[in-house]
Amino acid sequence: MGKKSAIVWFRSDLRLTDNPALKAAVDAFDVLPVFIYDREAEGDWPFGAASRWWLHHSLARLKESLEEIGSTLIITEGKTVAILEELISQTSAKAIFFNKRYEPAARKIEVELGETLDELKVDCKAFDANLLFPPSSILTKEGNPYKVFTPFWRAFPEPAKPIRKPSAISTVSKLPASKALDSLKLLPTINWDEGIEAAWEPGEAGAQKQLRAFLKEGVAEYKFGRNRPDRVLVSRMSPYLHFGEISPKNLWHAVQQKIDSDGKAQGGGECYLRELAWREFAHNLLFSFPDTAEQPLRPEFKKFPWDSDDLLLKAWHRGNTGYPIVDAGMRELWTTGWMHNRVRMVVASFLVKDLLISWKEGAAWFWDTLVDADLSNNTLGWQWTAGCGADAAPYFRVFNPMTQGEKFDPDGNYVRKWVPELSKLRTKWIHKPWLAPSEELVAAGITLGKDYPAPIVDHAAARHRALDAFASIKTKQQASVK
Ligand SMILES: Cc1cc2nc3c(=O)[nH]c(=O)nc-3n(C[C@H](O)[C@H](O)[C@H](O)COP(=O)(O)OP(=O)(O)OC[C@H]3O[C@@H](n4cnc5c(N)ncnc54)[C@H](O)[C@@H]3O)c2cc1C
Repeated sequence: MGKKSAIVWFRSDLRLTDNPALKAAVDAFDVLPVFIYDREAEGDWPFGAASRWWLHHSLARLKESLEEIGSTLIITEGKTVAILEELISQTSAKAIFFNKRYEPAARKIEVELGETLDELKVDCKAFDANLLFPPSSILTKEGNPYKVFTPFWRAFPEPAKPIRKPSAISTVSKLPASKALDSLKLLPTINWDEGIEAAWEPGEAGAQKQLRAFLKEGVAEYKFGRNRPDRVLVSRMSPYLHFGEISPKNLWHAVQQKIDSDGKAQGGGECYLRELAWREFAHNLLFSFPDTAEQPLRPEFKKFPWDSDDLLLKAWHRGNTGYPIVDAGMRELWTTGWMHNRVRMVVASFLVKDLLISWKEGAAWFWDTLVDADLSNNTLGWQWTAGCGADAAPYFRVFNPMTQGEKFDPDGNYVRKWVPELSKLRTKWIHKPWLAPSEELVAAGITLGKDYPAPIVDHAAARHRALDAFASIKTKQQASVK
């Protein structure tokens, strides 16, 4: 007689290695691996266009990997709990195994599922797999969540080792019908994804390949590379981490091993582990303050006098602001679905401070265009920049797009790559073409306002306007205290 059946519900853990839900199910049951595309399960944050592209390819790779070890992936679409109920009845499953997610909408579904499974007397086996530590396991002495990163990092324990992938899977004998992946219509209907396709290889194998390249070329120079968008020295692991094609434990221990075996990798490697802890910090914050995807963590910012100007917002979206480092970043994002962290900070600062447009508009655009769009990291990144989040940059610190460009893209190569109309301009002017003498512009074949925009705002004046806006909420706060 065969074993009893169980369902393995794949979510943001599209991998076989270090997948505790899969491993535990395979050890004890005939399994049915399932992915459910449920638009409602993401709440107010349904997958953006770039994420859908990634998801399509990631599911295809996961299905292949499962087939290689004797199983398959059933793909379905609709309401999660109803579909799981239906699958339980079709397979007489005795348990559902899954790895937890920590975003507010995903947690709600887990509670709903738990109640339904209780009624059906089916076991609900939930595991922690997508973070190094479950959220809220690292707390202050008083038992509160950390709102400042450094003490959180000081309290950070050594993460456990990853577990191996199953070598074979015994699958339920009567398979329910699966939808064809194409029928989910995850891929864009307009021809926009060529650049993304060229830049990425989604899936578990792609993640391991990317990790090997980073360990070989990037990690030793990571401290330098994390400030240099013109060089390829960061890991680009973010979409793989978000979709769970690699586990953070796998990544942590691979880097730790490199540090242990190669003295040159120590500085960069340790700096990298700290960034992985920022990811944990971000997830802890959203877990403890679940409304921060919509609301500023610092309540005084609810009254911030944001401006709204569709033309300026559109210029920012498309990388036509007239500030080369901002435009290079926004065009890299549009073309590849990703942007270097240094430039994310610069473009975000430009939106919320120079244009005085709400961080929520920026978060929404990133959500749609990033292949690594992640509710915790995106919320932290935007609230940090806007000054309204935990451990945030002070609002009065306004990035100067010219000096940021000159410091972090000193030869102008990043700008030349993504803003080719400026490629012939001498490095001296590449981050401030509007200040270039007219003969330099002529020699570079640029007519400002025609080939490349003049700045859409004056940075110095915009900075003053932003500081005045900030002063106004401080004054309001002081008045309300009195
Ligand atoms: C405005 C803004 C929005 C952002 N939105 C996202 C987002 O939607 N998704 C996302 O994954 N990251 C986001 N980030 C954080 C960061 O920019 C990216 O994680 C990083 O650039 C991804 O590239 P990488 O994998 O090469 O990073 P690396 O520098 O190689 O870092 C390795 C990993 O550490 C984590 N990490 C690094 N920096 C941060 C950080 N500041 N906060 C949290 N985790 C971090 C990421 O998981 C990253 O993959 C945002 C940052 C800003 C300023």
